[in-house]
Amino acid sequence: MRIRYLGTAAAEGWPALFCQCEACRKAASLGGKNIRTRAQAVIDEKILMDFGPDTYLHMLQQGLDLPSIQTVLITHSHQDHCYPHELLLRGEPYAHGDLGVLTVYGCAEVKAKYDEAAGQNDSSNFEQVVRFEEVHEFMPFETAEGYLVTPLLARHNPQEKCLIYLVEKDGKTIFYGHDSGIYPEETWEYLTGKKIDLVSFDCTNVLHPDGNYHMGIPAALQARERFISIGICSEQTQYVISHFSHNGILMHDEIKAVGDRENLLTAWDGFYVDI
Ligand SMILES: [Zn+2]
Ligand SMILES: [Zn+2]
Ligand SMILES: [Zn+2]
Repeated sequence: MRIRYLGTAAAEGWPALFCQCEACRKAASLGGKNIRTRAQAVIDEKILMDFGPDTYLHMLQQGLDLPSIQTVLITHSHQDHCYPHELLLRGEPYAHGDLGVLTVYGCAEVKAKYDEAAGQNDSSNFEQVVRFEEVHEFMPFETAEGYLVTPLLARHNPQEKCLIYLVEKDGKTIFYGHDSGIYPEETWEYLTGKKIDLVSFDCTNVLHPDGNYHMGIPAALQARERFISIGICSEQTQYVISHFSHNGILMHDEIKAVGDRENLLTAWDGFYVDI
């Protein structure tokens, strides 16, 4: 399996849309891996993780073959992860071709946002090319491509049942943990007995220790210790950090220096890992 990171920033991007802070100015002038678009990833070029406002940009700049994607897993309704209005453009006359059906999976709050967008549909065949399926924590399902997906509970916006996902195929498992603080007990309990090959940690807070709504490196290390102590992760498991905020201040090379010391792979837009 391959996970490719298309975007690695938190909600506001980095440089942030309207920000004049030093970390944004510095990122803009250094360029390269310091330019981070809103978080999104793709597994095996088939399973799209989240559908935020930079999806189109990822198609243009990172060779994402968007028309061929049949499965989108949405974690929660925050705007950097869920921008369903753009899905209307999969219908005629906005998109032509033999597209098949794109299935969008998400929780009840994501469904509400999807339904609101779908209410504005003016294309003739939207229902034939996009469908929504509501999913629930700890209830696995299989995608059209044969991936086994299990939604897990995140620790994030308490007003919503924010999800994170386990994605399994051919004996390999990816744990996609954006957005979340250190996971709730129900999630740890569910994970007991599983084997995970790659963990993608939320790293919004960068060096800050808080792990209640998002995580940073200290919380990721704490979570990793627990993964290892209950035998879910082995010495072969790889750990990625992503979803960075400009409020974390450090530039890519500085984050990477800390990550390298701690055996955490620091994602950037275009970064990928094979497991
Ligand atoms: Zn986010
Ligand atoms: Zn800023
Ligand atoms: Zn969020």
